[in-house]
Amino acid sequence: MRRIGLLGGMSWESSIEYERLLNEGVWERLGGVASADLIVRSYNFAEIERLQAAGEWDTAGAMLAADARLLQDAGAELILLCTNTMHRVADAIEAALDVPFLHLADATADAVHAAGLDAVGLLGTRYTMEGDFYRGRLTARGLSVLVPDEPDRTTVHQVIYDELVQGRIETASKAHYLAAIDRLIERGAQGIIAGCTEIELLITGEDVPVPFFPTTRLHVQRALELALA
Ligand code: GLU
Repeated sequence: MRRIGLLGGMSWESSIEYERLLNEGVWERLGGVASADLIVRSYNFAEIERLQAAGEWDTAGAMLAADARLLQDAGAELILLCTNTMHRVADAIEAALDVPFLHLADATADAVHAAGLDAVGLLGTRYTMEGDFYRGRLTARGLSVLVPDEPDRTTVHQVIYDELVQGRIETASKAHYLAAIDRLIERGAQGIIAGCTEIELLITGEDVPVPFFPTTRLHVQRALELALA
């Protein structure tokens, strides 16, 4: 089994899910007392959020790249960045590594293709919904990507920062998300990407009338395939 390095804490509410799902996945495949072989770098999310809000992406990229390298030097054989948003600096991280970096948008695009869809709605932080780093990666793979109109986009973003990364799961916010999802479906979305690693704490596939793509789970699945190949 290959050792997996996690750049987590973005937020810890979702990276703890990465750890749980990786450990459960190894046990399901190997049984007995087997568990995942992990090295975790978990950040203070307040520092990450400050860099995002200040637009200091280069600083954030240099920090994550240096830590990814430390994980590799400590024996990690593949690296996961446990947040969609910070994939904005994926190129810097990848350039610092010799071991594979599993890009979250690629794992997601593969799952959408496997489901036979070509138009998807994307929910995530404002950075993910509005920037090109994530949508562009999906469209380059032949997908057409719809994001919510305002005010849904602001609501989706605020629920992530004001509630989900702080461990708050609110019924009213779930209703807002489901209404935003309905509007994306009306506009032609054949499936919905939970493009923020905390969204699947609020919404599951059972809540949504079209195929649902939970990025934490898709990322973990891809990592398990590689780690146990
Ligand atoms: N974990 C979230 C994501 O997947 C948002 C928190 C962050 O900004 O990293 O985008």
